[in-house]
Amino acid sequence: MIALAEPVEREPAGSVRARRPHFSASALNAYAECERKWFYRYVCAAVDDPGSAASAYGTAFHLALERFHERYVRPAEGEADVMLAELERRIDGAFEEHREGFPTAVEFEIQVRRARRTAKRYVAWLVEEARRAPFTVVGRELAVQLDLEGFTFVGFIDRLDRDDRTSGVVVVDYKTGSIAKSAAEYLQQVRDFEDFQLPFYYWVRTAAGDRVTRLALLPLKDALADVRPVALDVVPVPSGAARGDDLVGTVSVAELERAKLRMVDICRALTSSEPRGFAPASDPEACVFCAYSLACTRRPPAASDRFGQ
Ligand code: SF4
Repeated sequence: MIALAEPVEREPAGSVRARRPHFSASALNAYAECERKWFYRYVCAAVDDPGSAASAYGTAFHLALERFHERYVRPAEGEADVMLAELERRIDGAFEEHREGFPTAVEFEIQVRRARRTAKRYVAWLVEEARRAPFTVVGRELAVQLDLEGFTFVGFIDRLDRDDRTSGVVVVDYKTGSIAKSAAEYLQQVRDFEDFQLPFYYWVRTAAGDRVTRLALLPLKDALADVRPVALDVVPVPSGAARGDDLVGTVSVAELERAKLRMVDICRALTSSEPRGFAPASDPEACVFCAYSLACTRRPPAASDRFGQ
């Protein structure tokens, strides 16, 4: 016979707080995408994310570019074929260092070839851009920190360029994953508080005394597509928004200020002692590559499954 146990009393709800004393833009982006994902990654750390070939590709490509620009500080002075040979050499070295991040030897070879093809397009863009507006690389993988209202934000800026003619500073973020396809789309992400990375870099460099004039996402994912950055020029007051497929638009200081205030608001929520839950993503797309989807009991059904329910 089975004796049923008395139900235990429900424990009083308690708070769940951020464990780390500092915050990164990627943590805030994870929270903006899905609170539950943030909980799994930054509070539980219970589900191991072993990484993927895609993340190893990104890490190795970033490293190759960091070393490449150590030599090519002023790209306008370089010759295209010499620069390409140097970048290919750096890619070979960086991917070799991260070989263990690729699940198979075949995958490794495929990704190295993909990176080399992308390198051609990167150098072609670099030469053209350096001729159009000569610049000096003044920072590579730059460690940054910003204290805002008692919260510390940390991160690394992929590259900082200083325009040789105007002294304006451009924050460059290398993207080896999917990014917004237009300036208007990226601006909307900033306005909707879905992306805090470049707003954070804007404020950290502004606090350091730079006159930041442009925030740029540099796409390095597609080896078959030309490298064409998505960029937002920083303007004092909102101007005509970018339309359609324009790759260059504007973002006002007020919009960046709102992003900054939202960063602080999120940190307040994450460090609050109030009991709280963590809502799942509203967009099932967020779950497609989520490392925690097996553990997550509240993921929204995929759009294709909704009609079957
Ligand atoms: S599976 Fe979806 S809802 Fe669950 S943690 Fe991941 S992104 Fe969030």
